[in-house]
Order: sequence, then structure tokens, then C-alpha cells
Amino acid sequence: MSNMRGRMRFKVLSIALALILGGGIVKTSGYLAFGSKAVLVDALTCIAAALGGFIVLVTTKISLSPPDTDHPYGHERIAYGGALGVLIVYSIVAGAAIISIGPPEPYTVDSRASVTALIGTALYAAAIILARMDPIGGSVLAVFTWSEIIEGLVSAAAAYAGASLSYIVDYAGGLAILAYLLASLYRESKELTFKISDVTEKDITTKVRKLLESRKFKVKSLRIRTIIPGKYSGDAVIIAPRGTSLEAANILVDEITEALLKENIDLVVHIDLETAAE
Ligand SMILES: [Zn+2]
Repeated sequence: MSNMRGRMRFKVLSIALALILGGGIVKTSGYLAFGSKAVLVDALTCIAAALGGFIVLVTTKISLSPPDTDHPYGHERIAYGGALGVLIVYSIVAGAAIISIGPPEPYTVDSRASVTALIGTALYAAAIILARMDPIGGSVLAVFTWSEIIEGLVSAAAAYAGASLSYIVDYAGGLAILAYLLASLYRESKELTFKISDVTEKDITTKVRKLLESRKFKVKSLRIRTIIPGKYSGDAVIIAPRGTSLEAANILVDEITEALLKENIDLVVHIDLETAAE
């Protein structure tokens, strides 16, 4: 069942990515046939979105496989490879855009370039709507999503003004999209670094601490890290109340850890017995 649904999902998302790629190709023709550099930079980001989306799709698929001998914690974090892939593809595209936009020498723009930008953007919008129907697909293609629509509108407007006013407007439009791309790369790199840094989620830690304390355990140390948002692992050192046997404490702890595991919190607990010194 899940296999068939998985295949369906893969198909829908593949269509979405093909639409995005199609948008990129239409926009590329807007540069080749009608000379708009704003549309060119926009086209490059569109093609990057399709390639990046494909990498995200593949890594997300792998990340859903169950734990095995080489990944006892599960494969979820492989999904971060998708974000990394997106960064690499967009970095390559940023370089290509810098080279292809070139110095601000006069050139002519045909106003039809703005039409290609609008068609390409419409294809992109259709792809997003399609992908959003799928809960995982929505998050998969959420990267750089709506900004791409704005970029499309900027390039269309810049190309139009580039044709009717001056090439400088078109050129400036290209630079603006490029600047946004570089800013996005910086922001996404920072975000990815944070996500893979074994970050803790305060709410989760508080919840686990309260659960342990509700059974009269004293929490000596508690460390919980995020594997991916929604899945956690950690360890705790707790002190059992005076007079509690290790067997009794173990039964209580087993109950707690089993309940936590159902909520995707994998907690290893070490129990200390309270002594006279403590
Ligand atoms: Zn594995």
C-alpha cells in the first residue's frame, strides 16, 4: 500500500518538477530570442529549482526507509542531503548567472521577453499547486518556492521596461534577482548548519523532564537532540526516590521510555539510587 502511494507521490512530484523545468526552458528562450538578461537570471534559478527539487525528492525518498545495520537511528537525516544539494545547485547557478549577466554594456530587449517570463512563472505556479496537494511534496518543494514567483514577476516587469525604456532597467532586474539568490544562499546555509547541529527543542525537553518528575524521579541530567523536526533522541541520568528498589525504578522507567518512543523520542535512561550522601 505505502509502496503504491509512494510511487504515486513520486509521479506527481516528478510532473511538478517537469513543469518547473519547462518554465526554465521557456524563460531561457526569453533570453535567447528576446535578449532579456533579467529573464536569463530568472531562467537559471528556475532550472536550479527543478534540479534541486529532484535532489530533494530522491533524498526524501531514501530518508523514509526504516533503520538498518548502518543507520540504527534511521535514515531521516539523509533528507538534509536534499537541502545541501539545493545549496550546491544554486551556488553553481549563481556563478553561471554572474558570468552570463556580464558587464553593463548596452543591449536591446524585445518586450516579448516579458511574456516568456510570465508563461514560465505560470508553469512554476502550477507546479507548486500540484506539489502542495501532497503533504510531503509540499514541504519538499517549499524551498525557494514563492520567491520564485516574485522573481518571475520582477523579470517580466524588468524585461518590459527594458524594452520600452532602457536596457539598464532589465540589467538592474537581473542584478536584483542575483542579489536575492546570493542572500538566499547565505540564509539557507546558515539554517542548514543550525539544523544539523544537534539542536535541542526546549518544549520536548521540558515535557520529558516533567514526565520523569511526575514519577518522583530527580533529573540529574537530560540531553535531547533533534534528529529531524518531530524525531528526537537523548539520554537522561535520574535519581530514584529514597527507598525505591532498582527493579521498581526500572519498571517505571520502561513505561516512560516506551511512552516516549511512541512520540518519536528515543530516550536512554541511567538510574542512580539515592544514597545517604545525596
Ligand atoms: Zn542504511
